[in-house]
Amino acid sequence: MSDIIHLLPDSVANQIAAGEVIQRPASVVKELVENALDAGADSIQVNIKDAGRTLIQVIDNGKGMSETDARMAFERHATSKIKEANDLFALTTMGFRGEALASIAAVAHVELKTKRTEDELGTVIEIAGSNVEKQEPIACSNGTIFSIKNLFFNVPARRKFLKTNATEFNHIINEFNRIAIIYPQISFTLTHNDDEIYNLPEGSLRQRIVNIFGKNINPQLLTIDTETSLLKISGFVGKPETARKQMHNQYFFVNGRYMRHPYFHKAVMKAFDRMLAPETSPSYFICFDIDPANIDVNIHPTKTEIKFENEQAIWSILMASVREALGKFNVVPGLDFDQEGATEMPVLSTDTSIKMPDTGFNTDYNPFNEDSEKIPSSRSGNYSSGSSHHKKEHFDWEKLYEGFENESVVDKENDFIQTEMILESNTSTSSSNIAVDTNNSNDILQFKGRYLLTSIKSGMMLIDQHRAHTRILFDQYLRNIKDNKILSQKSLFPDLIELSTEDSLIMEELIPEFDSIGFDIDCFTKNTYRINGAPAVLDGKNCNSIIEEMIAGHKDKTISGKDAFHEKIALSLAKTAAINYGKRLSIEEARNLIDMLFACENHNFSPDGKPIINILSDDEIQARF
Ligand code: ADP
Ligand code: MG
Repeated sequence: MSDIIHLLPDSVANQIAAGEVIQRPASVVKELVENALDAGADSIQVNIKDAGRTLIQVIDNGKGMSETDARMAFERHATSKIKEANDLFALTTMGFRGEALASIAAVAHVELKTKRTEDELGTVIEIAGSNVEKQEPIACSNGTIFSIKNLFFNVPARRKFLKTNATEFNHIINEFNRIAIIYPQISFTLTHNDDEIYNLPEGSLRQRIVNIFGKNINPQLLTIDTETSLLKISGFVGKPETARKQMHNQYFFVNGRYMRHPYFHKAVMKAFDRMLAPETSPSYFICFDIDPANIDVNIHPTKTEIKFENEQAIWSILMASVREALGKFNVVPGLDFDQEGATEMPVLSTDTSIKMPDTGFNTDYNPFNEDSEKIPSSRSGNYSSGSSHHKKEHFDWEKLYEGFENESVVDKENDFIQTEMILESNTSTSSSNIAVDTNNSNDILQFKGRYLLTSIKSGMMLIDQHRAHTRILFDQYLRNIKDNKILSQKSLFPDLIELSTEDSLIMEELIPEFDSIGFDIDCFTKNTYRINGAPAVLDGKNCNSIIEEMIAGHKDKTISGKDAFHEKIALSLAKTAAINYGKRLSIEEARNLIDMLFACENHNFSPDGKPIINILSDDEIQARF
């Protein structure tokens, strides 16, 4: 019998290796931008078409490559950054494995144009699936242009694995930010389908953060600055009152490289001890500068997890630094996060001039505004003091509830919420009450935290607050799903969901559907799926149960077809996000709830067919006396 072991051709070996390094378009962006930085560029342009499916182009003004180096760069283990294993312990560059370009060239069409200052002519190389198709001299400017086209053209399984353009582009923005934040001295641009997403001039770290996340973030940033013999810690933490439920804008960097570090995250959380509202966490941009000999960046192929010597000591230094930053700005003592009480309906009082309480909602946030996806800052938000919203003629229901949704639900049995009469002095708000008697439009009463009572021309109307809000949100979500405007929220620590084999098969079919409405689910191990992201409106709540519900619906055929899927998911989202019973409403909230309900086409019934409104006619009322 002949021998059976043979060496894989390079192209196949590279393709296999590519699987580890290049998972999606965002990985290409990361590798190319890191290379541009390593080449000493101080201006980097990133141009993307179709979330990277069609084109990923990175243009730098770095040192360029010679004709030979340009060819060599695509060989596996070809690197100019280390010569021997010992160099690994003194790494000051981003790359060192020499596999990024080989991997990219194995799974895409690559064009490289590059020229060094000292050369008269540059070089152009075209490679497709590891085959060099062209190399010749070319007149071009100093620096390097990489154009990656048709990513995964020869790996259909990978291409199929790509998520929606919105999701993939979100990944690109994440990778881009992770680099752009920590290199404020380098100017960057990012375009998508020729639209300019970022144009970041060089500046300070603070300026860079503001340029990326919007100027609202500026006053929120408290400076951290600590230097010890072990390391230097610098950067910013967000003020406690700007902490949010979702993980947002949380960045650690070590020696100019983004890293994930759950243990150090805990140190930051510890420093904020008792200053945060339940389940929220602060934003931070924290940079460590440490002797490279004290860290090991080599433990993870995509290099976001980094091992430190002296982790415990760093934990303590970090905790103390954050505490100091909070203390300096006097935010440590006497914080009162219990603002929710202040937003409740005013109780009957003899004081006729009722002052609207201050609320802490984010006036900029709109979960369906695509801009807020582009510029995460508008999500993290500027908490303006409450008075500003009174001036607004028109209210956005979503904004009104930002930040309150988790208010405890009062036990229905034991609950006896004092019935509250509303005194209303503010008549300036526009009110388009369709059914409400305009003469008495200020008389809205919330009854037992459950119903809104209001007089109408023919009698008295009772409105179920939860069902009303469910109807409003359902209509809104369905519209947003149809318009592809559901905003997704990434999870830093994705939840896992374990399914039976049968359910896994249904899941495989449903993943594109889930992804299209803001989820980001992938297969983790056999029958276990990872939920990397979910519609932002869920705020991390109920993901698993919604997914299970959708799968069950498909199994018993109660859901069939895209429309049914969309309706069902919109219903689940609406039910989860709608205000609960027991939630006290301010007069503004109550009035807006009613206004928005009557703006819905079907305001009589909730999307699952239950009555929302009940009317007691004048006659019925009179008959009781
Ligand atoms: P690594 O970055 O780990 O060295 P890569 O495959 O990413 O490996 O790149 C291989 C080599 O190609 C680099 O070491 C560098 O010498 C060269 N190179 C890559 N990109 C650029 C660039 N934009 N400008 C100059 N040289 C580059
Ligand atoms: Mg590299």
